[in-house]
Amino acid sequence: MDEFVIAPAPVPVVPVEDERGAALGGFPVRRILCVGRNYAAHRREMGGDDRDPPFFFSKPADAVVPPGRDPAYPTRTADLHHEVELVVAIGGAGRDLDVAQALDAVYGYAVGVDLTRRDLQARAKDKGQPWDAAKGFDDSAPISAIRRWQGPAPTGRITLSVNGAVKQDGSVADMIWNVAEIVAEASKLWGLAPGDLIYTGTPEGVGPLVRGDRVEGEVEGVGKLTFTVR
Ligand code: MN
Repeated sequence: MDEFVIAPAPVPVVPVEDERGAALGGFPVRRILCVGRNYAAHRREMGGDDRDPPFFFSKPADAVVPPGRDPAYPTRTADLHHEVELVVAIGGAGRDLDVAQALDAVYGYAVGVDLTRRDLQARAKDKGQPWDAAKGFDDSAPISAIRRWQGPAPTGRITLSVNGAVKQDGSVADMIWNVAEIVAEASKLWGLAPGDLIYTGTPEGVGPLVRGDRVEGEVEGVGKLTFTVR
């Protein structure tokens, strides 16, 4: 094929920083996987059964909102919710990885917010319908710069505040599936490749956002994410 018949869409890019915060370049996003119900207290606040294992859903790559941009309040919802999450950036290929190899596929980590149309999600759950409209809408995946990272995965505090008031305050160590287990599990369902992002689930305290809200998310040792809902 010689030429495209329409202009190809630009590749979504997230900036990368080294361990000291210096810019390293851009991380081209291939796709976004997300883990649902990966913290017991959040699973309970969503009415889930204590024996339900975590599971995956996805968002399109162009749902990412890199630092410096503000997400638009989505259409067709009256209940937009924040979910602060540790994000794993994949730098290596992987199929059928075991837990011991899984961290070798990790390039780095970021702070993300899995924005959710909670009203549409509740309706989809009731009817047994897919979550795409509830989870995979435009601007639904704000993310901080990715921090290059080698070695054991982060396990520190994860927080989110709205207009300065703390709404979510948990610990990444409380995840039901840890990072290695998430990457290994994902690699059994998909062929992971450089550019994949995995949002790893949110602790308790999710709640609504309105236009003009200033949101700050942080994962200890990984970074901070700040945006205003426009
Ligand atoms: Mn989530």
